[in-house]
Amino acid sequence: MQKDTYKHQGLRRQLVDEIMEMGIKNEQVLNAILTIPRHFFMDSAFSQHAYQNKAFSIGEGQTISQPYTVAYQTQLLNLEENKEKDTIKILEIGTGSGYQTAILAEICKNKSAQITSIEFHQNLYLKAKQTLENISKYSDNFDFQSIGLVCGDGSKGYFKNALYDKILVTAATPNSIQSFKEWFEQLNIGGQIIVPVGNRKNQIMCRYTKKDEKTIQQETFEGFRFVPLLGERGF
Ligand code: SAM
Repeated sequence: MQKDTYKHQGLRRQLVDEIMEMGIKNEQVLNAILTIPRHFFMDSAFSQHAYQNKAFSIGEGQTISQPYTVAYQTQLLNLEENKEKDTIKILEIGTGSGYQTAILAEICKNKSAQITSIEFHQNLYLKAKQTLENISKYSDNFDFQSIGLVCGDGSKGYFKNALYDKILVTAATPNSIQSFKEWFEQLNIGGQIIVPVGNRKNQIMCRYTKKDEKTIQQETFEGFRFVPLLGERGF
């Protein structure tokens, strides 16, 4: 079992300073990056690099996202705006290592939240489940009870737990109406999807807001490079 040492905590502080300089301002997001031990989510061979602002391989040709990317997507989710709601329901598509999922749970720990995260690869799903369990055992500070992990194809969302207030997609999504059909259906009015949209090589981060059953507003942000979305609606 890995440990979270003062050295790791110091490296996390430096990482937070770095992503602040890159433009991340949201206090909740920065605090979550400071709190969640990213090295627990990586193979021990890479763990000495865990606080570099880089993506790393997690097997199955997939990556743990760069911390700046995790912070960027989480900031766009505007999780603090739903204060008046009793429960916030989030769907994450692409659990990967479970790091982003843990960041979401940390931000939502003082409210009633239901976070569903779906992963295509069974090996990664099992590994993320184990990692989150290990961290919960390591310290009472980490409360991941709001998280429900699922193994399956999230390219059509996850109807069982819909409707969602927020959908976060952590894989590159093709720019076609078909890709979004089920996601829009599974979103509450006022709900939002954060998703990198484009081709296999380059994407633009987009935020879609469901204004009413027929109206979706699109906002576009910076360019990114994600691994491609798999499954029925993927590449
Ligand atoms: N945010 C994650 C983290 O912090 O570790 C990294 C996510 S990684 C960039 C993208 C993940 O999406 C991969 O684990 C991949 O297997 C998963 N994925 C791709 N297509 C998927 C699909 N259709 N359904 C569920 N997961 C999918």
